Amino acid sequence: MSLKKLTSSDAVTEALRQSDAVDLGTSAPGDGSYRGYLLEFEGKYYHPERVASVAYGVQYPDRSILPPAEFNKTAANVALHFERLNFTIATTAKLRPPRVEDAYPNRTAIYNAYGGNKIAGIIKFPRDTVVNAFSDEEGPYADEPPSMVEPFEYRGEGQYGDQDLDVPGNKMLDEARKNSRAVRYWYRPSGGPFKFVTWVAVLNRAQVWSPDENKEIRLEYTFQMMAVPGPEPSTWPPDVHALLDDREIKDTSLPKPLAPGASKKDRQKTYQEYLRVIGDPKDDEGESEPTRRGRNHYRRSVKSRLAVLARANNECENDRCTGMPGDTKPNGDAILEVDHLDDRALGGSDHPTDMIALCPNCHTAKTYGLNRASLKRHLRARIAAMHR
Ligand SMILES: [Zn+2]
Repeated sequence: MSLKKLTSSDAVTEALRQSDAVDLGTSAPGDGSYRGYLLEFEGKYYHPERVASVAYGVQYPDRSILPPAEFNKTAANVALHFERLNFTIATTAKLRPPRVEDAYPNRTAIYNAYGGNKIAGIIKFPRDTVVNAFSDEEGPYADEPPSMVEPFEYRGEGQYGDQDLDVPGNKMLDEARKNSRAVRYWYRPSGGPFKFVTWVAVLNRAQVWSPDENKEIRLEYTFQMMAVPGPEPSTWPPDVHALLDDREIKDTSLPKPLAPGASKKDRQKTYQEYLRVIGDPKDDEGESEPTRRGRNHYRRSVKSRLAVLARANNECENDRCTGMPGDTKPNGDAILEVDHLDDRALGGSDHPTDMIALCPNCHTAKTYGLNRASLKRHLRARIAAMHR
């Protein structure tokens, strides 16, 4: 391609003299299509594609001018080409890294400013070490805005089939987790701009069964994240550090999820498999070291929730229930909320034997009702009887 024909450093120097420097400014670099790379020359920064276009015209004055668009798909190649001609390449991610609260109209605008690619997934900008996690209310996972005060979940990359920890995005996120590196968390509310909302620490990950884009049930990775004040781990609160303690995670295979309309017998079998995977309620709970409990707490809670739903057989587990919601979830399952029998703060464990699936009515009655104390006693006895 014509880029290779640009071989004259003098032509590039002349083109630089003829070109306008990029104003990195004080606000976000969103005005032009930098795509992450800038040509550094005499203390100023230039758009590589535009300089390439002008330089081509300088080196070959007889030929028609090559529009910058010719180089559009090869920002990294253009950068490398200039380096081969002994020019210095800088990146926007280094010169003017994204700042919390920076907002862009869409993902393409971020790509134009910082380069990389256009996906709303997990990426690093060119030659940057920081991982960016993009989350969009409009999908593919219809994410909620991240919590600023408690851990929240972020789903791994891969829209079809079992998710793999070796795909670049998941690998980068897991490396950030293992090495306690902060991740930039970007979020776009439906119809709104893409915003760098907060730095996050990746606390943990777990495997869950979930439907993919084709509604086929597959294994997915879910990463547990927590908003942190900044990229430096020294600024992170002690509870975040406590949750970062355990670096090695061994994935244990989960029971296959239940098909909609599975029999009560199948549900019981799945529930027993979950109990085996989850292990003893006393492990990692109660008296054990709080840091380890924190990490296992999350991975266990994901499994325990699924286990309790299998046990519940699509019915509220309160035998005195006054009525389930008239509707179901979109997949046909009953609308149930999994709750701890006792507040975790008061010693309730994250084990199915300490948890219950309730309809929204019973859940509310258990939390706020005049007779909540007696209802709790009743439910506790009922769940205990199931596990005798
Ligand atoms: Zn109920």
